[in-house]
Amino acid sequence: MEAGEDCCVKVAVHIRPLIGDERLQGCKDCVTVVPGKPQVQIGTHSFTFDHVYGSTGSPSSDMFEECVVSLVDGLFQGYNATVLAYGQTGSGKTYTMGTGFRDGCQTGIIPQVMNVLFSKMETLKGQTEFQLHVSFIEILKEEVRDLLDTASLNKTETANGHAGKVPSPGKPPIQIRETSNGVITLAGSTEVSVSTLKEMAACLEQGSLSRATGSTNMNNQSSRSHAIFTITLEQMRKLSPVVPSDSSLNESMNEEYLCAKLHLVDLAGSERAKRTGSDGLRFKEGVHINKGLLALGNVISALGDEKKRKEGVHVPYRDSKLTRLLQDSLGGNSRTVMIACISPADINAEETLNTLKYANRAR
Ligand code: ADP
Ligand code: MG
Repeated sequence: MEAGEDCCVKVAVHIRPLIGDERLQGCKDCVTVVPGKPQVQIGTHSFTFDHVYGSTGSPSSDMFEECVVSLVDGLFQGYNATVLAYGQTGSGKTYTMGTGFRDGCQTGIIPQVMNVLFSKMETLKGQTEFQLHVSFIEILKEEVRDLLDTASLNKTETANGHAGKVPSPGKPPIQIRETSNGVITLAGSTEVSVSTLKEMAACLEQGSLSRATGSTNMNNQSSRSHAIFTITLEQMRKLSPVVPSDSSLNESMNEEYLCAKLHLVDLAGSERAKRTGSDGLRFKEGVHINKGLLALGNVISALGDEKKRKEGVHVPYRDSKLTRLLQDSLGGNSRTVMIACISPADINAEETLNTLKYANRAR
């Protein structure tokens, strides 16, 4: 995308197949895809998106090529980008992103990003020097946790049996900061410098494992937290001099520096975005409004509304840690892809409809 070109958010739906539990319960498929169109129907509702994958939409294997590869290419041109997986717990967010470590790790988006990134670097290495950094954090209840903090990972389990979730002693909390030129940084988080695909994959694995370990004993924490895997690409490109007949210009070999980042986000379960429980109580027990999901919906809808954007309407990035962290990678010249993950099962129809409505707001 060239600067100034529309920063519209791309929205795709990923429909997973009915899974074991749902089959056992005799669930019916309640989501239909209009043949040949990116259009989804549920009950009397119909929604059109940029793409629909799975359950007779396009094959899921096309998702990376159609939605994500251009973001990786954009990184090499210095554009930040964000991929978000949204949906209720169990809808396939972790499977889609590949943050599951054991589950879908090879087919998910992140492993494919890594493959493309490294092969592209290989083809450019003659003219360009690269530096790659990875961070992997989790936002839980408006607190940032470091999933790559080996010191905390190696700690023995606490009395409650929670491993991998304990901040290192004496380590100050991670803070989201903004530099004078609008770059968002995460002060105090682990940034791992990686030079091979293997090293980057090890970071993904380590962080995914850390997230999974914490969740078993903590009331399914992974459904409440946003996991953000960030790849930062720095480039020093040698600009070849125009070979002039005038030899005095021959030394004008100069360099161009570019830095861009790609956030790959496995969001908290969208059932957490509900304002009220289905029983009409203000808060269902254990279900809190997730500030990040609410703020993200508002930010993305403000960005997607061209009219509002032209009027310079305020984009509420500061309303949550999630949107604050993604501020320099949502809107502006950055590219954003939201993948709304849904289950086709009739028992999930209400949440599926909520997910489609949320995703629809993003367009
Ligand atoms: P979430 O992260 O949204 O809670 P998961 O990614 O853990 O959901 O998926 C829930 C279950 O569904 C897992 O067992 C996963 O393997 C399975 N699953 C999700 N998406 C797919 C898919 N596209 N194809 C096959 N199985 C899937
Ligand atoms: Mg998950």
